[in-house]
Amino acid sequence: MNERQLDKIFIKNLEVFGRHGVLPEENRLGQKFIINAALYLSTREAGLKDNLTNTIHYGDVSRFMTSFMTEHTYQLIEAAAEQMARAALLQFAGLEKIELEIVKPWAPIGLPLESVSVKIVREWHQAFVAAGSNLGDKENHIQKGIASLRECEDCRVEQVSSLIVTEPYGVTEQPEFLNGMIKLRTLLTPWELLELLQKTEREEGRERLVHWGPRTLDLDIIFYDDWVIDTQELKIPHPDMQNRTFVLKPMAELAPYFRHPLLNQTAEQMLAAVLHNI
Ligand code: ADP
Ligand code: MG
Repeated sequence: MNERQLDKIFIKNLEVFGRHGVLPEENRLGQKFIINAALYLSTREAGLKDNLTNTIHYGDVSRFMTSFMTEHTYQLIEAAAEQMARAALLQFAGLEKIELEIVKPWAPIGLPLESVSVKIVREWHQAFVAAGSNLGDKENHIQKGIASLRECEDCRVEQVSSLIVTEPYGVTEQPEFLNGMIKLRTLLTPWELLELLQKTEREEGRERLVHWGPRTLDLDIIFYDDWVIDTQELKIPHPDMQNRTFVLKPMAELAPYFRHPLLNQTAEQMLAAVLHNI
């Protein structure tokens, strides 16, 4: 969802008792922690209908955080914040993004500081992953790719395109391909998502012999929100997607109006352009 459209609910200075810390005394005796959070969601429906079921109950979130902080023990408040933000995003429907601060007012460092805290921002991201196969049981390889994303706890597969049969691209002396697109929401970073996809490719017996050569399963990140990443290891948007009918067709089927952040064209427009040039 577009961030500018999101509203916020604030939870300020929620006091909880926990046993987080690196020192054994901290784990044994415990200490006070203070939580601040901004919950990003749309409150429009709840605002118009004045109905609690249309929003996120700040009481529920506060109780959830209190239990989380008492039931788990982390050495670092970084870890407590990371895991609690993730748990909240997985738990509360409609929670798109969370800003979370964990304050440790009694940090035992023997110096007169007022408090230390860690503040993080975590959110759901929208990603599009292209799947392709031209060796073995192609459909089965692609289904395994989809299954690995469905099994990932930090991913929610929203839609899968039709699978289309396409002629090989680049190196043309090879079997025809089966291609499709997966639309998902994820808490993973692009680098973590890439790692998951590469693990799945390996599990499906992918060997990197020839660049653009035959493969059991190829999983490429096409878009990740409107992010632009340009490194050797990872390029987003996928740098050649606008030239590939087999990427654009399934993309235009799932999200015709999704706009390329650099080319400023929608999937539908890029598909029309590439078909026009054939
Ligand atoms: P291709 O998909 O171009 O046929 P490979 O699947 O063999 O080639 O990927 C080669 C490398 O491309 C991978 O090691 C990966 O690090 C890199 N890469 C760069 N950008 C992406 C992306 N958006 N999605 C997947 N891999 C990418
Ligand atoms: Mg690839």
